[in-house]
Amino acid sequence: MNIQAAIDALTEKGIDIDLNPASVKSKSRDFFWYSPVLKDRIDHVVADFVATPTSEAQVIEVLATCYAHDVPVTTRGTGTGNYGQAMPLAGGCVLHLHKMNAVKDIQPGRVVVEPGCLLKDLDAACNETGQEIRMYSSTWATATIGGFIAGGSGGVGSVRWGSLRDPGNIIRLRVVTMEETPRVLEITGDDLHRVSHAYGTNGIITEIEIPLAAAYDWVGIFVAFDSYEAALDYSYDLASCDGLLLKLVTVFEAPIAKDYFQRVAPHVEASDALVALMVAPHSMPGWETFTEATEGRVIYRSDDNDWAKTPGHVFEYGWNHTTLRALKVDPSITYLQIAYGTEDPVALAKKMRDLLSPEILQHNEITRQNGKVAVGGLTLVKFTSEERLDEIIALHEANGAMNFNPHRYTLEEGGRQSVDQRQLDFKREADPKGLLNPGKMIAWDDPNWSYDRMYAWPGLQPKTAAE
Ligand code: FAD
Repeated sequence: MNIQAAIDALTEKGIDIDLNPASVKSKSRDFFWYSPVLKDRIDHVVADFVATPTSEAQVIEVLATCYAHDVPVTTRGTGTGNYGQAMPLAGGCVLHLHKMNAVKDIQPGRVVVEPGCLLKDLDAACNETGQEIRMYSSTWATATIGGFIAGGSGGVGSVRWGSLRDPGNIIRLRVVTMEETPRVLEITGDDLHRVSHAYGTNGIITEIEIPLAAAYDWVGIFVAFDSYEAALDYSYDLASCDGLLLKLVTVFEAPIAKDYFQRVAPHVEASDALVALMVAPHSMPGWETFTEATEGRVIYRSDDNDWAKTPGHVFEYGWNHTTLRALKVDPSITYLQIAYGTEDPVALAKKMRDLLSPEILQHNEITRQNGKVAVGGLTLVKFTSEERLDEIIALHEANGAMNFNPHRYTLEEGGRQSVDQRQLDFKREADPKGLLNPGKMIAWDDPNWSYDRMYAWPGLQPKTAAE
């Protein structure tokens, strides 16, 4: 790796290079620290420099130059990812794409956009045509569309549209390879799985085409229940109503709302379970009819608000914002990312709660999967030790709940704990030197890894004596 030669060559080519230690350090970090395990392992890693291209042509220059000098490249949107996705484990170059943020074309049902566009800016541009993006991470205000596609899974909108990986939720990606002479590929159809949710390990996305939906002035709602069971049943049944247009259905076990949601706390009891919803205005009468027949107490609706301090966007209580709010109150909190599936997810979620509450507290996201309503969990965990965390995860798996382990920095361990052959094959083709986000794909380094313990990438930047 010849860092200085790469910096000199890129500077000569007019690429914006940042060498300031403080800003390089801050651009070398994401939200990995939600995990005490990852905090212990990768808190110290730092890039050597940050390159900020303004066009695809400049991305190609950066990749060709880094290839020539064997410099690793870790791409960054805005660094809100968990799992250490954007952490430059081997140092080298952070490729910061925030200046490639143009919305290029909006047509009925589709938009073409550069990867560094913030989700909220993309949504605002689409709103001008009466449309909106189908789904976004709850980091809508701060995250990029490129980071969402390369690192995210789904989010607000997934109760209607499923997850990002479902057919139809991405139309086309334009991707630059990391070779002596980088190629630009247009990727569609089944090949999208090669690069979506690949953490930028096998290509850099420079253009995205995604579908749009009709825009609505969504009504944010909180409904309180006396029990978790009632809240979960209500949420599952509500999401199953095909005639109601919903964008968010989230369940919080007690006392999450009372203890961690500052603005909601005055309106609930410690024993209250809470449901957060986003409902389309034309579905409000149907939602009212449905809700009146339950024991739910509507405590907030954004279209008829009497709270002195408004809670803000309801979706900023759900998805991984729940963990963020809990962490701010109790730093010992961490989380799990669980899929309870579609077969009998309500019973399984209730069973895990019976086994583990209050050491873990249920926070469920209701989504759709292949036409069926699914229940997921970004479960809050009071962290005591790595051993206990592993036991809790093993207990979930033993009971049939799938775990996407957010305490691991590799794609496989944060996914299905198996080799993704399509992503690996594409990496062999598109990144022959293995320089893109190194350390994140176990299959590249050790295809026979047994997954019987946490993978420790041998190339990880060593800690200094002070760390
Ligand atoms: P980054 O963190 O910068 O990057 C994410 C990954 O993508 C990295 O591996 C990076 O190398 C790679 N990457 C970025 N841009 C490109 C590119 N152009 N080409 C190739 N690779 C690229 N995630 C969800 O899915 N749903 C949620 O609802 C959600 N809620 C969250 C709430 C909070 C409070 C937090 C902290 C995180 C949440 N996340 C969620 C995770 C994260 O915010 C999202 O995935 C987000 O969309 C990532 O965007 P980013 O710009 O921050 O990406």
